[in-house]
Amino acid sequence: MEKIKLGNSDVEATRIALGTWAIGGSGWGGTDEQQSIETVQEAIRKGITTIDTAPAYGQGLSEKLVGQAIADMDVKREDLVLATKAGIGWDDNGGYRDSRPEHLEKELQASLERLQTDYIDVYQIHWPDTDVSIEETAKKMKEFYDEGKIRAIGVSNFSPDQMHEWQQHAPIHTSQMHLNMLQRYLLSWFEYCQTHNISTLSWGSLAHGMLTGKYDKDATFPDDDLRSNIELFQGDKYPNLIDAVEELKEFADKRDRNIIQLAVRWIMDHPVGADVVLWGARKPSQLEGVHGADEFLLTTDERQRIDKILFKYVDDLENGTLEEYGPPMRSDLK
Ligand code: NAP
Repeated sequence: MEKIKLGNSDVEATRIALGTWAIGGSGWGGTDEQQSIETVQEAIRKGITTIDTAPAYGQGLSEKLVGQAIADMDVKREDLVLATKAGIGWDDNGGYRDSRPEHLEKELQASLERLQTDYIDVYQIHWPDTDVSIEETAKKMKEFYDEGKIRAIGVSNFSPDQMHEWQQHAPIHTSQMHLNMLQRYLLSWFEYCQTHNISTLSWGSLAHGMLTGKYDKDATFPDDDLRSNIELFQGDKYPNLIDAVEELKEFADKRDRNIIQLAVRWIMDHPVGADVVLWGARKPSQLEGVHGADEFLLTTDERQRIDKILFKYVDDLENGTLEEYGPPMRSDLK
C-alpha cells in the first residue's frame, strides 16, 4: 500500500484511507453495527491503516465503532493513523457548526474516549465556522498539537482565503475537500494546498457510490439518505451521468480494472489530485478492489480518454456545491 507523509508533520498515511461516514448511519439510511466493525477490520487487514471518521457521523457512533473494531483486533495503535474531526455540535434539531475553543476542548475528550486512544493522528476542523474567528480556532488546535494530543492539524472544506488566514496563527498539515472525476468544482483549492505544502484528502471520492456503477436511472434512496437531496443524484444531469458511468465501466474493463479502481486512481494520479483518497465503505465486500487500485497508474492519455467519454454526456464537470453538504451556522439557527 502506497504511503505519504502529511504536510510537514511526522504522520505517514496510506494513500487509500477508509471513510466511515456511512458506518455512522446518519445521512446514509441507517447502519449495521457488526458489519461496520467488520468493515474497519477488513480495511486494516487489507493494509489500509488510515481511517477517517468524525463525531458528526451518527453523533459519535462512527467513532465508537471504529474504536471498538480496533480494540477487538490484534493491531498496534502506532501502526494506525486515526483521523477525526471537530467543530460540529448537535441538538434535537440536528447538527450545527461550532468551532469555539471551549467546544473543541470537550469534543477532543469525547473523541479520545470513543476511539479508545490517548492521541489523535489527524485532527480536522470539519466545516469552517464563521461565527468564531479563525484565529481563536487555529490557536486552540495549535495548543492541542503542542501538548501532543494531536499529531497533525487539519481543516476540511476551508477555502484558500480561510486557509491563508489560519496559517497566520497555526500550521495546517492537511486539508480535506470534495473531489471525484464527476465533481471537480474544488480543484483550484487542491492546487492551493499543493503550493502551500498542505496534504490533501478527498471526500466523496466515489461520488457517493455513483462511481461504483451500481445505480441505474431509476435508483431511489430513503429520505434520510443524502443522495435523495443532492444535485448529483437529483438534478437534470443524473441520467446522462449514469450513461457516462456505463461507458467508463467498459473503459475500465478493457484495462482489467473496475470503475471504482479507475475512480480512485483518477484522484491519486491527477496532477493536483489528493494525496489521500477516502474510500467510503460499510461492508467488507465493498473493499474487494483495494489492491487493484493500489497497483497501477493512470496515464495522461487515459485521463484524456476518460474526459472525452464524460464530455460526450455532460457539458461540465462541476456537479455540486459545498452548500449542499455543510451544516448550518449557529447564527443561522437564531
Ligand atoms: P464515497 O466514498 O464517494 O462513496 C461511498 C459509498 O459508495 C459507500 O458508502 C457505498 O454506498 C458505496 N461503495 C463503496 N465501495 C463500494 C463497492 N465496492 N461496491 C459497491 N458500492 C460501494 O462517499 P462518502 O462516504 O461521501 O465519502 C468518503 C468519506 O469521506 C466519508 O466516509 C467520510 O469519511 C469523508 N467525508 C468527509 C466530508 C467532509 O465534509 N469532510 C464529507 C463527506 C464525506 P452504499 O453502501 O450506500 O451503497
